[in-house]
Amino acid sequence: MSETPPPLLASLPDDVDAGREIHALAASLFPICRSITGAGVRETLDRLADWVPLVRHEVPSGTDVLDWTIPPEWSIRAAHITAPDGRRVVDFADHNLHVASYSVPVDRVMPLAELRPHLRSLPEKPGLIPYVTHYYRPDWSFCLPHATLESLADGDYHVVIDATLAPGALTYGEAVIPGAEPGEILISAHVCHPSLANDNCSGMALLAWLGRHLSSRANRYTYRLLFAPGTIGAIAWLARNPDAAGRVRHGFTLSNVGDGGGPTYKRSRRGTATVDRAAALVLGEVGGSARVLDFSPYGYDERQFCSPGFDLPVGAFQRSRWGEFPEYHTSADDLDFIRPEHLASSARLVAGILDVIEGDATYRNTAPFGEPQLGRRGLYDGADGRPLPEPVRMALLWVLNLADGRHSLIAMAERSGVPFRDLRAAADRLLVAGLLEPVT
Ligand code: ZN
Repeated sequence: MSETPPPLLASLPDDVDAGREIHALAASLFPICRSITGAGVRETLDRLADWVPLVRHEVPSGTDVLDWTIPPEWSIRAAHITAPDGRRVVDFADHNLHVASYSVPVDRVMPLAELRPHLRSLPEKPGLIPYVTHYYRPDWSFCLPHATLESLADGDYHVVIDATLAPGALTYGEAVIPGAEPGEILISAHVCHPSLANDNCSGMALLAWLGRHLSSRANRYTYRLLFAPGTIGAIAWLARNPDAAGRVRHGFTLSNVGDGGGPTYKRSRRGTATVDRAAALVLGEVGGSARVLDFSPYGYDERQFCSPGFDLPVGAFQRSRWGEFPEYHTSADDLDFIRPEHLASSARLVAGILDVIEGDATYRNTAPFGEPQLGRRGLYDGADGRPLPEPVRMALLWVLNLADGRHSLIAMAERSGVPFRDLRAAADRLLVAGLLEPVT
């Protein structure tokens, strides 16, 4: 392998600056009305391109992608409901969750009884607006707080959704950051949710922010950062990029990275991929509510990357898992719900996982018969003449013992309980001393 790059973690700004920067980027994306196609996705990608070298791809409506077809493009200009007394009781201009994504156009006067089936609310959370979509079945809905719905009097309502479903394109963005090796690390975030902060803006912002830092350093792997609409975007990318998919050695999706729960890592379908083991090591050091879950065929776009025909080693990193926080897919998933300190913590954990992947290697001890004498190689005493601290000596001994050409550094960390970074540092010392040789 090529030389191990310095840790990404060491090159990141401190948590205060990191949290502030990622939150500000998420906040700039929050007001945009995104869907799986349309102007909102393009505007979002334009903003992300300020952070990471992003190439925008357009896939025309009607294009077949794997078992799917790119849908018509949805454009929304205005939507509102006017009550019998002339008041606008719901207005898309107030909140873009008020209209279900992909609603077909409508301009009609109708009695409340006829309107009622098109009104979506959350009776158990009466102050919140739900997030609803009609992607693949033509329909229209307004979403509103249940309290507002309950206050509607009988009578005729004027309902307007000024929207278009027309041939256009699906848009996704891709940033490729070359590394020393052609093998790739794929990290993706969905870009299709409207004003939802944790479930969606946090993931896009963290990925673009990380991309800037990855772009400014020497990486071992090539990084491919994918910003695509959920499901159909990942499917379109897979359909168009079989060669790149074949180069993916590690990967994960990023979503819900700004709340105070978790952190949560969901394993890839393979279950024991390097990324799965790296994430388990990093989250294992966090303790507390950190957890590693087994793969399941639901969630974000790891579902597509882990479909059996591709079976890519792609997991999912989140704080709270989707659906497990009460704010999920409601207007309460706002910019107050995501916090700079949680975004910074997520950045640190993700960088830690990448450092393990980038730093992993397999070695052979060049003096495996008996312990090599460390003292005469300067590996027993430090520069101050005193014995090296015990954790440093233990890391050296573990690496020397397990460097049999079969244990990777990740395997050594799993078996010894010694933090990966200490084993990596020990291996670097032993390489300099000539006591290790890489096994390719
Ligand atoms: Zn979602």
